[in-house]
Amino acid sequence: MDDTLFGSHNKRGDFRPNEALKPTPLWIKPLDLKKILQWIPGYLFPWNFLWLISAVLYWELVIPEKEVMQTFSWGWIFNLFLVNGLAITAWFGVFEWQLYHRRNQGKRFKYNGLFPAEKPMEYFWFNSQNIDNYLRVIFSSVVAWTLIEVLMLWGFANGNIPWLVFADSPWQLALVFLAVPFIQEAHFYCIHRLIHIEPLYKWIHSIHHNSINPSPWSSLSMHPGESLPYFGVALWHLLLPSNPFLMIYQLHQASFGAIVGHIGFDQIEIGKDSSFKTHAYPHYLHHKYFDVNYSDGLLPFDRLFGTWHDGTKESDKAMQERFKKRMALNNQNVQRGTE
Ligand SMILES: [Zn+2]
Ligand SMILES: [Zn+2]
Repeated sequence: MDDTLFGSHNKRGDFRPNEALKPTPLWIKPLDLKKILQWIPGYLFPWNFLWLISAVLYWELVIPEKEVMQTFSWGWIFNLFLVNGLAITAWFGVFEWQLYHRRNQGKRFKYNGLFPAEKPMEYFWFNSQNIDNYLRVIFSSVVAWTLIEVLMLWGFANGNIPWLVFADSPWQLALVFLAVPFIQEAHFYCIHRLIHIEPLYKWIHSIHHNSINPSPWSSLSMHPGESLPYFGVALWHLLLPSNPFLMIYQLHQASFGAIVGHIGFDQIEIGKDSSFKTHAYPHYLHHKYFDVNYSDGLLPFDRLFGTWHDGTKESDKAMQERFKKRMALNNQNVQRGTE
């Protein structure tokens, strides 16, 4: 495909889409029903639909019977860890293999003109972003995901957390089901803002930001101090009317869904003439500029707090102005401190 129909490459080869990132029409006044209806298919497909399928598959094939989950035993817990690890390896691996190893579509639609393997960095374990990222995915994030999943399932199975069934509470559960992606976004935004504050940034979140040029393995490459609160999103289902299926759907938004911001390509080609948009750009810009796009724009937090970057040159300018003002303020404070 000719990606220059959709954007342009700079001297370094970085791709910038022509179209500015659009805010979710749910938060634009006056509400425009036509725009909302146009937005829904892109919101559901392919990603949210895929996490729903994965939750159904888990529910049918992986999650044990209620009686088994009532007691902690290595059998089912280790099985869950193994399935989570293998599933995430397969899911991230397919994209990594196609786009970064075989480089099936070259650098077409690629935000960063370099592949991570072209620029070894010594701050990664074994000087390799791929190996570093992958080990952290498994030993930090898959461990945290499984731990929280096991505790929640045990709580549901023992009646410590109310287990609602669809036949008795259809409206409540349908509402929570629709809210799941919004819960993910709100939860992520809050912990993400928090871990950008020093010294939490230096101790914890800088590990994730080592991948300035992220690839699918970077998606869950986190310090355990980030992985645990990140997967803590499942704990909202202690408070909400819910059941284990919805809790698992929530966790899949956080686990499999983390890939969305880290694909590194604006569109993925399918065949010669078709492609689909990845929605990776807001979070790619976060990796590039740090102090923008703490969320992906599903909720309007970044626009409210002035940190939204829509990918345009105007947003570049606004960001630079903001950085300059902050630098000036910092310098003033330093001067005052020395007077
Ligand atoms: Zn990231
Ligand atoms: Zn960050």
